Amino acid sequence: MPPALLRVALPVPLPRMFDYLPPPERMPASDDIGRRVRVPFGTRELVGIVMDVVSPVSDAPPGLRPALEILDAAPLLDGELAESLQWLARYTHEPPGEVFATALPTSIRHGDALPDTQAWSWQLTAEGAARRAQLRQGSRPCQIAEWLAAGPAAEDTLAARMEKWREAVRGLHKRGFAERVATVATAPSATAAAPLLNPEQQTAVDALVATDGFAPFLLEGITGSGKTEVYLHAIAHCLARGRQALVLVPEIGLTPQMLARFRTRLGATVHALHSGLNDAERARVWAAARRGEARVIVGTRSAVFTPLPEAGLIVIDEEHDGSYKQQDGIRYHARDFALVRGKALAVPVVMGSATPSLESLHNVRQGRYRHLRLRMRAGDALPPRVRILDVRKRPLQAGLAPETLDAIGRAVATGGQVLVFKNRRGYAPVLMCHDCGWNAQCPRCDTPLTVHDNGRRLLCHHCGHRQQAPEACPDCESLALQPQGVGTERLEELLARHFDTVPVLRIDRGTTQRRDGLAKLLDRIGEQPGILVGTQILAKGHDLPNLTLVVVVGIDEGLFSSDFRAHEKLAQQLLQVAGRAGRSQRPGEVWWQTHHPDHPLLHQLIGGGYPAFAGSELAQRQAAGFPPFSHLALLRAEARDMDTAQAFLRAARQALETSLASMPAGCRDENPVTIYDPIPAPMPKRAGLYRAQLLLSAAQRPPLHSLLDMALLPIHALPQARKARWSLDIDPVDLY
Ligand code: ADP
Ligand code: ZN
Ligand code: ZN
Repeated sequence: MPPALLRVALPVPLPRMFDYLPPPERMPASDDIGRRVRVPFGTRELVGIVMDVVSPVSDAPPGLRPALEILDAAPLLDGELAESLQWLARYTHEPPGEVFATALPTSIRHGDALPDTQAWSWQLTAEGAARRAQLRQGSRPCQIAEWLAAGPAAEDTLAARMEKWREAVRGLHKRGFAERVATVATAPSATAAAPLLNPEQQTAVDALVATDGFAPFLLEGITGSGKTEVYLHAIAHCLARGRQALVLVPEIGLTPQMLARFRTRLGATVHALHSGLNDAERARVWAAARRGEARVIVGTRSAVFTPLPEAGLIVIDEEHDGSYKQQDGIRYHARDFALVRGKALAVPVVMGSATPSLESLHNVRQGRYRHLRLRMRAGDALPPRVRILDVRKRPLQAGLAPETLDAIGRAVATGGQVLVFKNRRGYAPVLMCHDCGWNAQCPRCDTPLTVHDNGRRLLCHHCGHRQQAPEACPDCESLALQPQGVGTERLEELLARHFDTVPVLRIDRGTTQRRDGLAKLLDRIGEQPGILVGTQILAKGHDLPNLTLVVVVGIDEGLFSSDFRAHEKLAQQLLQVAGRAGRSQRPGEVWWQTHHPDHPLLHQLIGGGYPAFAGSELAQRQAAGFPPFSHLALLRAEARDMDTAQAFLRAARQALETSLASMPAGCRDENPVTIYDPIPAPMPKRAGLYRAQLLLSAAQRPPLHSLLDMALLPIHALPQARKARWSLDIDPVDLY
């Protein structure tokens, strides 16, 4: 009988599996499925996942190579997670091996053993207790023995207290003075008491804890209405039932403050997963979750891949946030994938937001999600008062009107803090020659370079290109080079000059590279009066109880963008930023500076809040046939020149048309897929490559996915496909 073969998913961008003979002297069995396997691939070695064990009908095809080694003693990727990831591979039309590689922590993907998640301690033996006086006074072993005499000490504690502690403790171990013991986990106790829920919060919590099995909930509540309190109650209930909870938060929402709130309230170890962790730390959290040791996992986008063998609840905070969508590689949406997992795991999924995505609101209207609402601010905080400031014909200083400067002055004079929000980093967005009109452009993107460091440095925010600002205009040699427009640095400069008695802090990606950078900056200002200038980093997360005035500068760009999601993003941002004001007893005020004081979007938001805006925006989307009333897929191509990129997309379009024509007639007529012409991307050049795109749109998902299933193999095989770098984005969020 011919030997069974291993069918392996490998992290290579080819839409197929790879068959291997089993490693020498090993009989494959069906429970090899889900184990990692090391295989030769060309001249390289790769680690893949066994997807199937197949018995060839005849002799194994010639040329098959044996796998080198099966790495796991038991399946590593199995059950719900394996199945959900295969669903994701089908949905994104990406090879399962690439999806697995995205989902697994780096070291595990590369074949390392699952890390030890057991914590260890050291204690003195009877011998050590009796004879430790013999140790040399002042030596490291003597010091450690002294600590241990007071009781066992965790390795983490020893590491924190002494360098080279391990060598010293090994010395003790050799002499029989000390022994290593597994630390018995003791859950931290909850130190903070829960506030009494208000009736709306109670209704929401009741609905969540009464749910058995999968159910999606949209928890819509203005900022400060107590959504996090609802999560905490639902998580506590989940823990009490002996289940695990997964909490997804946006990239900038996962602050030390937020983690501390979870830890002190839940009385459970909270495992955090975010981009600041190193590979080993990520792998440990993953392993701890897989072993069921991690009970509460709080993490950003990729935490959605956490194994949850005892799942009880999934929470997605700020579900509308753009950081949930992965923008390269496997372009998954963490919120949407969390729902898929919630269904497979049969647990409730709560999506919370003050400004829900139109997709989620649409799902509520369709009866697919249950709607939970919190209409009041929790505690005794009042909603902020919003005012539109017409700045037409007003003299502006660094973009600020005189009335705005007066208001800032009044706020700090009465001991308040002020947030000036401007969604543009740097000193100014453009450096222009006043004599000839030349402006500094990125040589790799053909877009204006942002002026930084008060005019000394130029930086491309798209590709990272940086250069010194020229002394004179390269075209006309004039010295009249002027920064045009306003960025956060320029605002900071003006405000610091204008209000020199209070601290002015700039908070953007330039000043908060490190995760704790923001917390440190904010600690510096504390509760004292002062001014914060910042980008969307400031829009959420850190609580600023003393913030009484929020000024938003430069909202006009968002009012007139060609992106169909621009209004949604602007409305969300305006309300999220406004929500920062008046979080406690002091009433908050919000000023929106604009040249378009009559714009309906602004009046809807003020008059009817987000629901009014969302209602009219949904109607417009429906009339235009945009998501959520249609489903999009975007084929992108990049190449050294625009012709090559477009030639690929034209050939791809041909392949798509051919496949569409061969689809069953009924399906095609009822559920058409529109294939648009290839066009240059809204940003046609980036980092030296020319970019084009082709949009597909369909009223229903299934025909769109069937079409892609049919057409992608021929597209892969196109000769033009080798000359361009291309990718497919299902449900694209940004159309560029
Ligand atoms: P959100 O997540 O909606 O922004 P939070 O849950 O963070 O709201 O609540 C905002 C503030 O109100 C927090 O300081 C929180 O401790 C407090 N809070 C929430 N619920 C209550 C309640 N029922 N009673 C008193 N204070 C509350
Ligand atoms: Zn010039
Ligand atoms: Zn650039």
